[in-house]
Amino acid sequence: MPIHSDDSLERGTTIDGRPAGLRTIARDAHPISRKDISPNALRVLYRLRDAGFAGFLVGGAVRDLLVGGHPKDFDIATSATPEEVRHLFRNSRLIGRRFRLAHVVFGREIIEVATFRANVDDGSGDRELHAGGRLVRDNVFGAIEDDAIRRDFTANALYYAIDDFSVRDYTGGFEDVQNRVLRLIGDPEQRYREDPVRMLRAVRLAAKLGFSIDDATASPLPVLAPLLRESAPARLFEECLKLFLSGHAVASFLGLERHGLLPVLLPETSSALAANRSGALRRMLLEGLRGTDVRVANDEPVSPAFLFALLLWPAYCRTLMALQAQGMHAAEAQRRAADRVTLHQLSMIALPRRFSLPMQEIWLLQSRFAQRQRKRVMRLLAHPRFRAGFDFLVLRQFASNEHSEEVAFWQEAQTQPMDPLETHSDEQALEPGEEPAQLDGDAPRKRRRRRRPVASQ
Ligand code: ATP
Ligand code: MG
Repeated sequence: MPIHSDDSLERGTTIDGRPAGLRTIARDAHPISRKDISPNALRVLYRLRDAGFAGFLVGGAVRDLLVGGHPKDFDIATSATPEEVRHLFRNSRLIGRRFRLAHVVFGREIIEVATFRANVDDGSGDRELHAGGRLVRDNVFGAIEDDAIRRDFTANALYYAIDDFSVRDYTGGFEDVQNRVLRLIGDPEQRYREDPVRMLRAVRLAAKLGFSIDDATASPLPVLAPLLRESAPARLFEECLKLFLSGHAVASFLGLERHGLLPVLLPETSSALAANRSGALRRMLLEGLRGTDVRVANDEPVSPAFLFALLLWPAYCRTLMALQAQGMHAAEAQRRAADRVTLHQLSMIALPRRFSLPMQEIWLLQSRFAQRQRKRVMRLLAHPRFRAGFDFLVLRQFASNEHSEEVAFWQEAQTQPMDPLETHSDEQALEPGEEPAQLDGDAPRKRRRRRRPVASQ
């Protein structure tokens, strides 16, 4: 596609050794059409323009439209201050502390409108850096060029103008999108130090878009990965949801592994996978993530509890084995292992209790699938987490096919009519004298006592 550019160099700065300046890609030289843009976003753009402000569609939406994708949200950058936006739109509110911006609300759709910001220290105290170079506040308004270069990747720094439908490119992002390359703007190490979450964003966006990561952007990742520990655990949780529940979980996981981020993000899982010589746990994990991607593609619901049960299962298995090897009783070991793994992981990723509790339930249910007495079967079938627990059991077949008989049994049991007197859902762990859990690590297994399945009685 030819690039029409007016190449009006307004600043003499260079970005990563490449010339910085405005390149305007005219409407006939890019594929973005107004019919692919949310009508509400168009409304905001027109209103800003009519009020005399500059307003552009920016960021992920422009990037996604250029590669033929469907943006999930439409962000706008403007010369208007948040207060001016607030006055212009009755249906708006101001949000954010680190970034002050306006949300314009149209029913269920929210259009985020942010004032052009600079990534410079003007001495006003509106921009603070921590000793390590981490950015803590970033509220200095600036020109559009400043707004472009403070963004993370060149592909995310493209501006779609409503007055002439052109795309404005200050960082070489248009060419990078065409070549499907993800490239940080500026010095990669400095940009990662400012905000280590950018490391996860690099892997996530490469996975989502099928882009490669430019060498200079990729090479610092394994070295700087430990900086992620300084990021807010709540932000890391949000980023994990985007990594794994947006339809590209397998690619995200492989990217995290490949670029050395997994040992920092999920340390216990990472070491448990390394210790699992057969590779069975990794196969199971990847199979679970593949299933998640299929569900997202089919518009079926996906649950963070199930996701984290999967991501932390290797860590849980390993901890459980260690506790049982110390002679701890199975039921006690299961509870302790679940708590320990959750607690350790929480220091990195703030998994809310509404997800960590069902996650633990999914783990604790696993040992109950071995129990086939009629009463226990009925009780388990009525358990609110039965379905998730069963789906998890199905996945465990990928680590060890010794679960196939259990899977067949419980598949069949679900088709049997329920006894209404038996349906209550109190959570029960193994009772004294009962068998320890059969889990999927490398440790030696005990032989399981056979019980006659109720379904065949
Ligand atoms: P998606 O919405 O598909 O996950 P996105 O690029 O739109 O990806 P958002 O988190 O919605 O991601 O961010 C919107 C825009 O804000 C980005 O495109 C980028 O320009 C900028 N941005 C987001 N996070 C950062 C960051 N950590 N550092 C610099 N710029 C960022
Ligand atoms: Mg976005």
